[in-house]
Amino acid sequence: MAKKTVKDIDVRHKKVLVRVDFNVPMDANGHITDATRIKAALPTIGYLLEKEAKVILVSHLGRPKGQVNLKYSLKPVARHLGELLKQEVYFGEDALSEKTKIQIESLQAGEVMLLENIRFYAGEEKNDPALGVALAELAEVYVNDAFGTAHRAHASTAGVAGFLPAVAGFLMEKEISIMGKALAKPERPFMAILGGAKVSDKIGVIENLLAKVDILLIGGGMANTFLKAQGYEVGSSLLEADKVPLAKTLLKSARGKGVKLYLPLDAVVAEEVGVEASTQTVAVDQVPEELKILDIGPETASLFGELIKSAKTVIWNGPMGVFEIAPFAQGTMTVAKAMAEVEGTTIIGGGDSVAAVEKAGVAAKMTHISTGGGASLEFLEGKELPGVAALLDK
Ligand code: ADP
Ligand code: MG
Repeated sequence: MAKKTVKDIDVRHKKVLVRVDFNVPMDANGHITDATRIKAALPTIGYLLEKEAKVILVSHLGRPKGQVNLKYSLKPVARHLGELLKQEVYFGEDALSEKTKIQIESLQAGEVMLLENIRFYAGEEKNDPALGVALAELAEVYVNDAFGTAHRAHASTAGVAGFLPAVAGFLMEKEISIMGKALAKPERPFMAILGGAKVSDKIGVIENLLAKVDILLIGGGMANTFLKAQGYEVGSSLLEADKVPLAKTLLKSARGKGVKLYLPLDAVVAEEVGVEASTQTVAVDQVPEELKILDIGPETASLFGELIKSAKTVIWNGPMGVFEIAPFAQGTMTVAKAMAEVEGTTIIGGGDSVAAVEKAGVAAKMTHISTGGGASLEFLEGKELPGVAALLDK
């Protein structure tokens, strides 16, 4: 169901509380090392300022566990945001203190303030209704633009939405509309590429996508469990023996649904992960007992590449190998480059997959790179995210 956005509600001169995801990496000196998440919120903030709203931003940073811990202060973010917006960003040192309330009351139309880390309050992660109400009392409209935390039912992501008119920001809208459309009404052939370390991390994703896609490519560590389920020996590779029966069921279910499921035909194997590792390429029925599968082989990579280019909608989650280490990166890089050539919709979900696409230099060619690792996985599992569910329907 489509959700109302900032464009569907009157914000002029109103106090608007915006949940953003400013959980940015910082070095030991409190310098922001990657401002991607701050920049991702600029369209929504910019729109609200243009409409002369009074913008009150709320976010978490790290895991201060419900206590004030200045190591996790958002103050450096306020400064950084001010530079990006070229206007002062006021800082509310204690999100809910009287002083902050007075600061909010004196905010003028078109001014911005950032509240201190909301996870300094124990009620945040517990979704304490008292905190939800307290946040709601600061404003007249609530906007959620924090897709990355939308899978958490916290006071600032879900609870507060019960007490104010609640709508999506532009980043949130982009995430849910592109991924939502791909899942509900994909242009076909619809393909999913799944990889990453473990089957157990992705069971829900595999099950949900299996019911929707035409073609499923499986690589990465998780393919080992499927290969084993097909009767191959995978040597010393990462294997989840207890998931072999599940893999058999999933393979059977794919056949039943007419999904074309492809597993690796060959693999890059080595004794250990390492930049200096001596590698071999073997067929999947020839994996030596003492070696580990650490990437899909060249034959598989070129088959996957060709299949990918023929799809009209592709969702990719999980690298094809240990792509962080050069000798095992080739399969993942080939897949990333093929994704860049798709004439259709390409969606990347999952933290490591995003890193892989960036490493391959093709990020700009993707239709959508999800900003939320855990949230995008839960979305692909078909779960309703609490932070999305709480917003008004269109
Ligand atoms: P994402 O973050 O995109 O959801 P995952 O976290 O599930 O992806 O998986 C990424 C990790 O999987 C990477 O650290 C990668 O090194 C590892 N991996 C991929 N293939 C293998 C393999 N064959 N053996 C061991 N680890 C692997
Ligand atoms: Mg990961």
